[in-house]
Order: sequence, then C-alpha cells, then structure tokens
Amino acid sequence: MARYDSILGTIGNTPLVKLRKLAPAGVNVYVKLESFNPMGSVKDRMALAVIEAAERSGALKPGQTVIEATSGNTGIGLAMVCAERGYPLVIVMAENFSLERRKMLRFLGARVVLTPASEKGTGMLNKAIELAEAHGYYLCRQFENEANAEVHTRTTAQEILHDFRGEALDYFVSGFGTGGTLLGVARGLKQAGTGTRIVAAEPDNAQVLSSGIAQPRDHNGQPSASHPSFRPHLMQGWSPDFVSRLTETAVDEDLIDEIVPVGGAEAMQLSRDLARREGIFVGTSAGATLAAALAVAKRAKAGSNIVAMLPDTGERYLSTPLFEGIADEMDAEELALSRSTPGFRFDQPAACGMPARSPASDGIDPEAARFVADLVRDEPVVMFALEWCEFCWSVRKLFKRLGIAYRSVDLDSVEYQPGGRGGKIRAVLARDTGSPTIPQIYIGGVHVGGCTELFDAMREGALQRHLQASGIDYDTRVELDPYTLFPKWLQPRATA
Ligand code: PMP
Repeated sequence: MARYDSILGTIGNTPLVKLRKLAPAGVNVYVKLESFNPMGSVKDRMALAVIEAAERSGALKPGQTVIEATSGNTGIGLAMVCAERGYPLVIVMAENFSLERRKMLRFLGARVVLTPASEKGTGMLNKAIELAEAHGYYLCRQFENEANAEVHTRTTAQEILHDFRGEALDYFVSGFGTGGTLLGVARGLKQAGTGTRIVAAEPDNAQVLSSGIAQPRDHNGQPSASHPSFRPHLMQGWSPDFVSRLTETAVDEDLIDEIVPVGGAEAMQLSRDLARREGIFVGTSAGATLAAALAVAKRAKAGSNIVAMLPDTGERYLSTPLFEGIADEMDAEELALSRSTPGFRFDQPAACGMPARSPASDGIDPEAARFVADLVRDEPVVMFALEWCEFCWSVRKLFKRLGIAYRSVDLDSVEYQPGGRGGKIRAVLARDTGSPTIPQIYIGGVHVGGCTELFDAMREGALQRHLQASGIDYDTRVELDPYTLFPKWLQPRATA
C-alpha cells in the first residue's frame, strides 16, 4: 500500500487468492477478488475509465450531469467517481435490484430513478436514453462503451499476467453483464499469447449466448426486444435480457472458448461456501462464476491453474435471496447458549428508558434545579435526552412526524460536560419525576413522562388532547403507532 492523491488511485490491483478447501485436489483455483476495489466491485474500474475517456474526448463537460442504467455496482462505482470529480449523477435502476444498492447510491449523492421490474434491463436502458436526451446528460452506455472493455485489457488482464509471470494460466472464467470484463480480459490474455482458455459462464435457465440466436436490434443498433432465450435469473449483474454490444464483440472476435451454464441454487450455495469455508465474502454472481470454474476444474488436467473473476462483495445482498434463512434473531441453539450463564439475558423483563447512574447522593445542585425549572416553564416542549440513546431517537422521530418543535437538552453532549452539569441535571430530573431513566419529556410545563409514557399517551389520545390544551401546533392528520418508531431490537420481543 502507498499514499494516494485520491480514492480513485486505489481502484484495481486486486488480489488473487488460492482456494484451500473448495478446489478439487491437484488443481489450483485462484479467485480474483474485485471486492477489494474501493466501492467493493469490479465496476469501479469501468466507472473511472468511462468518465476519463469521456473527459478526454470532450463528450463530458465540467459539471455536466452523468446518467447510466445499472443494476447497482456500476452506479455505485460511478457515484464514487462522480463525487470525487464533481459531476452530478442520475442512476436508472429496475425496482427489483437490492434495496441496499439504492441507499448506497443516494448516500453517495446520486439520484436514483426506478423503472418497473416488468420492463427488465431494456426498460431501464431506454429510460436512461430518454432522460439523457431530454435533459442533455452524458450517458455512459456501459453496455457498448469500448472504455469498459479497454480498462480490463489495460489493468485486469495485465494484473493477472503479472501474477502468473513464468507460469501457465490454463483457464480464465468470468460471467458477463455488459461483457466488459469478459471482452477486455480475454483480449489482454489472447494478445499476450498465453494460450489461456476463456470460459464464459451464464445462467442455466437463460442460455442467451449458447443459444447462438442473434440479438434483435433496431436501426440504431439498440436492442429492440428481449432476447428469446432470456429468463429472469438469480445472478444479479449477469446476463441482462439482451446481448450487449461488448459481449457480441467477444463472440465476433472469437475470444470465447467455451460457455458453461450455472444454476442459481448452486451459485448461492457456493457464495455461502466461500464465506464459511474460505472466509471469502462475495456476492451471488461470484458464487456463480466459481461454480463454472469448479466445473472446469473437475475435468482439468492435474496442476492446472484456473482464475475465476469474483465481481463484488457479499454486503450488497443482505436483502436478496442470498441471505434467505440468515436470521437476525437468536435461534434455539443461540438462546440456549445465552441461558447457559446467568448474566445479560433477555428472559428477564427489560425496562424502558436508559437508567441513570445512581443520582448524585450529595444532594441537588441549585443551579441545575433552577435550569430545569426555568426551561420547563419557558419552553412549550422540552426533552431531557442523551445523544446516543435509542429511546430518545424514537421520541425525536415522533416529534418530527407530528411536526412538533421542541428543545432537546442532551445531557451527555459536550455542552453539558463542564463541571458534570449533565449529571447534576439528571439528579434534579430523578428527584422531580421520580424516575431514574432518560428521556424525560415536559409539555406545556407538565411532566409527561419518559418514552413509554409519551407513546402510551399518544396511543390513548391523551397526548393529542394535552397538546391542544397547551396550544401547541402539531399535524393532526398523522396516524401512527409510535412503538413502530423503535428500532427493531427495542420492539416487544418474545422472551420465551
Ligand atoms: N457481477 C456483478 C455483481 C456485476 O455487477 C456485474 C456488472 N454488471 C457483473 C457480474 C458482470 O460484469 P461485466 O459487466 O463486466 O460483464
């Protein structure tokens, strides 16, 4: 590792890792871990290459908005590059791709336009074209952009060649989405004359490439309909419903030596096996690529070297079938383990609110008592809170939803640290309210209670009546069970 001028310098140079358990004896299976890229996928390479090519050609002007249709990884890579380079970004994505991708994109500052799942990849692409034309955006066109293949010839292929210098590389195995990886790496390896066989993997239920059927295209060369062999499949990022220009080029240049079909269940199993048996955390298409590599490994001659391209990290799949059956609650075995020692268990009733450390025994601080009394008298709504407390966050969410303006006194914040002021105020509150927990809420000069009392009052309508009686504005249209605002781990739990 070195020093870098920007995050973009850390793209590429991903490691090749030998499988120690999943490969058959006598055959060397290496996985190239694209999850080591800064945004966790192979598409970081393409994102930088496409933007730099467009900057060089003048197709992309400073400050111009960039747009692309993507299943997520391309968008996330582009969001990083655009954030660093200062381009606004719009991502068009079908609604059926994982939720975490949308959120990551928005976190990185991109806007996300969703398209109906029923319209598939072609719908996504055509929407991006429509928006680009209407608003003058720069459309990346990853499915046909030569920069997408070129970067893999220039970087990915060279990295692999470098790592195998002086040694035979017998097989290179990759799936294809845009086909950029497949085309670019295949070109690089063929040019180097290593004799490496190029293996393309595709879903067994959507054998678009091995069907040999040409992709229907319109007069502009754009896919005009779904490919007849396409069926929806589990490998997000693989085979869209059309054969891309780049993939077609790999076929036309005769770069693909064989095509291996892979089933979705096997792909997910291998992704899980990689995690549990090799400690390698990758997504579904990575498991799928490994499935194809292992099929090749089974019949490869002893001593063969195989490289499988694993496109991304598994963290992007938490809301997908890959994580189905992975629980967030303790199962029977984990509960039994919890109960095998006496402390820190859930089978004793939990109190609402964060207990205060024992209130100061040396009595009440007069300044703190005055501070509390003045605030309660002068502020229509005041919450004595802690910054990190989830009960307090839930109350804040309720006030926000109801449009209630309030004053929050965060007793653990820097402001209340000098002289232990926060602790002194807590002691006053404990005395005045008879409760040692935080938060404590006062409305219209009256103590309403802690979080539970406030939520119960809302459920019963007492809170609404008290707000009205106190002349405090709030949104009377909101209908909400406040307990749903608790984070999941605080919601009523079965302790049986
Ligand atoms: N797997 C995943 C998870 C992807 O996001 C992509 C890119 N769409 C691919 C595989 C395929 O890579 P390429 O577009 O270079 O063919």
